[in-house]
Amino acid sequence: MLTINPVKTNNNINFQGKTRIRAIKYIPNITCACCGKKLILPDNLAKAWKSISKPISFIMKKGLLDKWTKRSDSIATVLNKFVQTEPEKPLEKILDNQENYHEFKNALLDYVKSRHPDSDADTNDEYVNRVLDSIRKNSREILKGASPVMKRLAVFKKNLHGLKRDIFEQFQIYAEKYPRKTLSEIVNMDEIYKFHSAKNFLQRAETRERLDYHFGNIKKMIVKQKPELADFADDLKEKALKIYAAEADPKIKFHKMKELYMEALESNNLAKLKFKVADELKLVPESFNTVDSFFTYAKNHNWTDYTIISSILTPHTSSYEHIIPRSENGEDKYSNGLVLCSTCNSTRKSMPYEEFLKYHPEMIYNTQRQMDMISKYILSGKLPEVFNFYPIKTAKTLYDYTNGLMNIDVSSYCKKALSHSENRIKEKTQAISRKKDERDKTIMKKIKLQQEIRNVDESISRLNKQVSKLREREQVEKSLHNNLLNYLKTKEKKK
Ligand SMILES: [Zn+2]
Repeated sequence: MLTINPVKTNNNINFQGKTRIRAIKYIPNITCACCGKKLILPDNLAKAWKSISKPISFIMKKGLLDKWTKRSDSIATVLNKFVQTEPEKPLEKILDNQENYHEFKNALLDYVKSRHPDSDADTNDEYVNRVLDSIRKNSREILKGASPVMKRLAVFKKNLHGLKRDIFEQFQIYAEKYPRKTLSEIVNMDEIYKFHSAKNFLQRAETRERLDYHFGNIKKMIVKQKPELADFADDLKEKALKIYAAEADPKIKFHKMKELYMEALESNNLAKLKFKVADELKLVPESFNTVDSFFTYAKNHNWTDYTIISSILTPHTSSYEHIIPRSENGEDKYSNGLVLCSTCNSTRKSMPYEEFLKYHPEMIYNTQRQMDMISKYILSGKLPEVFNFYPIKTAKTLYDYTNGLMNIDVSSYCKKALSHSENRIKEKTQAISRKKDERDKTIMKKIKLQQEIRNVDESISRLNKQVSKLREREQVEKSLHNNLLNYLKTKEKKK
């Protein structure tokens, strides 16, 4: 029986109830089992959202406050209260509260009376609402200049790895150039299109870096399966990167490249294959740019800031992949789960692995990597005991379901888990013997105490005997005394 002592985690991960099965996707620093990129935990995404959306309402109110401070003390006081007490709540929501509404209305009427002392100021709600409407309009104007949204995006960008990072970098360039424009406004600027059609050096460098990373993963996979192909893998990569650097459709080229890598694993004629690589790459059509297509799409669909940000972030969140898909009665169990990024998860859907692995051969390498990472996490006792069998059971599911294509090595985990459990048994045995010793000691103490009690009892009974003896003597003495008295009395009478 495998037993590893679970240690309570000190992070805010919730393993309770339904989420327990999906707990694996909450492991910090987890990487996608398919593409291998570092993932954002769902909780962190929610936090990021908050940090991006929080200041908008705050800035709105703060902007209003600045405007009204110059005009009216009473309104400034009320607004200041709103800003301080509920910084995250939009003004409209705050005014939904009747108490707040009346407070604001009174302040507003004070202001009107101070401006027009002679006129009998309109005290009905219609007037107040009219003023409120104009304030709301003003607040939207102020929101337009809310550049801190961009600044916060730039800070959050640091945590991103992978494909859409370059979009963040583009946004940052424009955030600096147009600090008072929102994301959706920036997307709708013509200048963006001109800039991107130039296909700058930065993007090329980024693409290269990105592909370099993916090829690195593929190389590791090849070297693992056929160590003798290490040099060849390097050679192929260099050739491919040279052609990529000249700009073309990275997506298609990348898939072609992967196919060739797979072929390399089978092939015995490497020299012939090298020429084939060069020819294949020449045939790939040009002109494709992820940043451009993203901007165009966002513009055509009139995306709001919210949609833009979520579309950038969502592909980086961790999601739960059913190895055996639900459509094939795959269960909602941890032993049927891998952690994939949302993009890879939606790409695979219910595609059989035999086919999927043709396009994503690096998945074998990256799944191994993920399994090692999860194993480490389990061994450090940071997951509930129910996960102790996760690597073994999941490796089995993968092996069975893919007919041996996905052969994940969990032997080192088994060894470590075994020694862990041995240590645990040792510890338990030691604890038990310690307890036994303690128990023996208490028994000895008890026996000693009982002996002492018996001794005391004996001495008590001895004393009692002495007392009764003394009493007997006392009786005898008393009767002797009486006899003597009687004798003396009779003697006196006789006299
Ligand atoms: Zn992925």
